[in-house]
Amino acid sequence: MIQQATDSFRKELQLLEAQSNLRQLPDVEHCGKDIICHGKRMLNLSSNDYLGLATDTPLRKAFLETLTPERFLPSSSSSRLLTGNFSAYTELEDCLCRLFGAESALVFSSGYHTNTGILPAVCNAKTLILADKLVHASLIDGIRLSSAQHIRYKHNNYEHLESLLRKHRHDYERIIIVTESIFSMDGDEADLRRLAGLKKEYPQVLLYVDEAHAIGVRGDKGLGCAEEQGCVEDIDFLIGTFGKALASVGGYIICKKEIRDYLINKMRTLIFTTALPPINLMWSSFVMERLEGMRERRNHLENIRSFLKEKLMEKGYECTSASHIIPVVTGDSRAAILKAEEMQRKGFYALPVRPPTVPEGSSRIRLSLTASLSKEEVEQFADIV
Ligand SMILES: *Cc1c(COP(=O)(O)O)cnc(C)c1O
Repeated sequence: MIQQATDSFRKELQLLEAQSNLRQLPDVEHCGKDIICHGKRMLNLSSNDYLGLATDTPLRKAFLETLTPERFLPSSSSSRLLTGNFSAYTELEDCLCRLFGAESALVFSSGYHTNTGILPAVCNAKTLILADKLVHASLIDGIRLSSAQHIRYKHNNYEHLESLLRKHRHDYERIIIVTESIFSMDGDEADLRRLAGLKKEYPQVLLYVDEAHAIGVRGDKGLGCAEEQGCVEDIDFLIGTFGKALASVGGYIICKKEIRDYLINKMRTLIFTTALPPINLMWSSFVMERLEGMRERRNHLENIRSFLKEKLMEKGYECTSASHIIPVVTGDSRAAILKAEEMQRKGFYALPVRPPTVPEGSSRIRLSLTASLSKEEVEQFADIV
């Protein structure tokens, strides 16, 4: 029996390899903004450390100085609903409420736990989810785990979305629009104001926005596209992760108190998992409290990303990115791999992204810029593309 299973797994892996879609865990070491892979040192152009905080040693030093062996707690040893609800949670959630000017906030173990937990908790068979065609896998898994009906609308196509709203508004008790603000693979941006406007026209509609790639990076205070577009209050489920620009781990929601209370009672990925280690929560708070003061990093990131976008367009690449995430689409998986290998040979660590992460036929190099890159380094990269 086991032989049969391993044979079929092997066959499937061989098929993936033949399609240039086989994945392996890369063997990497980090050295500041460089990455060392197979003994070769390259500039890392594939990191989600968008503000460069994960490589900021003085910042970590300052945090370490706040610690003692008693305060350094690497485990919470229990679910939040049992004994794992350390005061570090309250401090982080209070900090989020204060920054967002919100009624309440709730922190989860990761962005993945957040998206796979909230949607199943708040949906029932009388719910319709209308999700952007390109939302992240964690949102798709959340939709699949829920008992809601769902339809995907064409990417950032609000005419299509509105036609679906008109068609189905009387068939469901509740309709939840699900989108990212900056899209993880295309780096383009949702029009949150327009979505907020749509929501106001249809009383049964709620808005769910994942800011995984925008928190820290966008907005005057670094709170994301919702802050930048002035519509924090219009979003019912404002989601983000601490794992990217915030250089930590965990996920969060900014929401009304009733939603928070409901999630505490119903959300399985909150209830049935060990709470985050207090040390991580403390580090997340430490970073969040300094976020507003990191405007220079945000401005620098904006400068280098618009520079690179312009250069790529001069070279004839189509570029719909509106952010620091810049895809170079090759279409074919093999071509994406070859292109990435070429960039790596020239000292730049760029990675191919292939199906199922992106739709068939849209394989690409996903460049993600961070504030730790200098203008000169980005210029050098633009020269070799
Ligand atoms: C990375 C990502 C997540 C998952 O967040 P983690 O904290 O890494 O689990 C969720 N949504 C989007 C859009 C992401 O890009």
